[in-house]
Amino acid sequence: MAELRAQALWQAEQEADALQAALNEEDCALFEQHVLGGVPCPLCGLGRLWSQAGTLLCTGCEDMRVPLVDEAMPMEDVSELLGLAEDGHRCAGCSLRPKFEVTSGAGPPILRLCCAGCGWSELAL
Ligand SMILES: [Zn+2]
Ligand SMILES: [Zn+2]
Repeated sequence: MAELRAQALWQAEQEADALQAALNEEDCALFEQHVLGGVPCPLCGLGRLWSQAGTLLCTGCEDMRVPLVDEAMPMEDVSELLGLAEDGHRCAGCSLRPKFEVTSGAGPPILRLCCAGCGWSELAL
């Protein structure tokens, strides 16, 4: 009996360790994201943007899946274009916060900046 109990205890300990390790890993991932910086996803705000084979993707969400005009476009340029899109809206005289949306009609998905307040809808990428 004592042996069984010892084993159960041991098992519980192992599980706790595994859980702890998983938690640490998660923390690390967050930490890494923080350290690495990168361009935050304009859709979810949590993930970081990256591109693969000419498609702009997000590490955090599935919604971001936009083909890039220039396959080799560096993330700094993407970030700049997103900023320019926001500037354009602000310069048009609206102080509301617009939001980025991925829309896909008949063609490939595109990223646009939309504002419900002034009806702004401009291609961002
Ligand atoms: Zn995202
Ligand atoms: Zn607006």
